[in-house]
Amino acid sequence: MAYKIGDDCISCGACAEGCPAGAIAEGDGKFEINADACVDCGACAETCPVGAPQQA
Ligand code: SF4
Ligand code: SF4
Repeated sequence: MAYKIGDDCISCGACAEGCPAGAIAEGDGKFEINADACVDCGACAETCPVGAPQQA
């Protein structure tokens, strides 16, 4: 089960910097997680100021 970034994302980039798998990149209007690369560590959810990453 990978994490997904919801529409609350304000594109701050903090999660992408902290992702150990390099699974997060800027997408269309928000950041997006590559589900195939995500190792489900939860770091992005802890880092995000608005709680946008959620376990899918
Ligand atoms: S759960 Fe971990 S591996 Fe997956 S996108 Fe978030 S920080 Fe990266
Ligand atoms: S840390 Fe949260 S608000 Fe910032 S880019 Fe990631 S998901 Fe979006």
